[in-house]
Amino acid sequence: MPSTMRTTTLPSGEAVPVLGQGTWKMGEDARRRADEANALKLGLDLGMTLIDTAEMYASGGAEEVVADAVAGRRDEVFLVSKVLPSNASRTGVPAACDRSLGHLRTDRIDLYLLHWPGSVPLAETVDAFEALKKAGKIRHWGVSNFDTHEMEALVGLPAGDSVQTNQILYNLTQRGPEFDLVPWSRQRGIPLMAYSPVDQGVLARNTRLEAIAARHNATAAQIALAWVMAQPGVIAIPKAGKPEHVRQNVAALDIKLTSEDFADIDRAFPPPTRKRGLEMI
Ligand code: NDP
Repeated sequence: MPSTMRTTTLPSGEAVPVLGQGTWKMGEDARRRADEANALKLGLDLGMTLIDTAEMYASGGAEEVVADAVAGRRDEVFLVSKVLPSNASRTGVPAACDRSLGHLRTDRIDLYLLHWPGSVPLAETVDAFEALKKAGKIRHWGVSNFDTHEMEALVGLPAGDSVQTNQILYNLTQRGPEFDLVPWSRQRGIPLMAYSPVDQGVLARNTRLEAIAARHNATAAQIALAWVMAQPGVIAIPKAGKPEHVRQNVAALDIKLTSEDFADIDRAFPPPTRKRGLEMI
């Protein structure tokens, strides 16, 4: 159990945990649903009260697992969900939000994200988000998979500067955003949410991270997470269905990486030296 959950501050002034829980691949198999909800509940008990989901995941099935996990304790949780770009129109956004609220069995989403940039004009999606805020169905909105030029365009729109986060692929094997998107976001006080922080489990088997982990009596996955969480203004949202993974992820909060660790990490996973387009999965 970590001493305390660390937080970062959204532009709205609200503090959110730097470690949350992902839910992609949950809700796909009814036989696993109870175990998945229990893993999320364990994470909540241990302080990972930010839960990330999306209408896309198992076509609402992941949101239903989240509903099971937060039943009776909704007020403890900071719920993030996402609307598909194909639903991002003036009428599509409120309809998608109502469906998500139904799956989540709640009356509000704390942070509602556009899942990736699409063909609906961004200004229309932002208007729809602002209308949902006024209606009390969402508390905040943000985006996902937006590269720097897309963030520039967004903050130039009326109400565009109400964006609370940009959720992106960011982990040790995907350090491209450090070239410009990470500093751009930090300068504007817009936290990034790092998805796939353990590279979908691949970093958990990395031998160079295992060598660093041995110095901390930890695992490679924990070092990968500790590194993400050491970046200011970054929120990590690992997905863990296994209770031991949930416990290990929370314990990663207590790992203090040394300058030797950071140097070894930079040698194994060099930071970017030029701009690369933002990747997504
Ligand atoms: P992650 O990097 O979180 O990896 C998840 C995998 O890693 C699972 O197989 C899990 O196993 C395993 N794992 C988790 N913790 C540990 C640990 N301590 N030791 C060893 N293995 C571990 O990948 P995701 O792609 O799931 O990303 C996280 C979340 O980000 C998603 O669930 C989703 O909510 C969000 N996301 C958003 C996207 C977007 O476009 N906005 C795209 C992709 C993800 P197990 O489950 O068996 O415990």
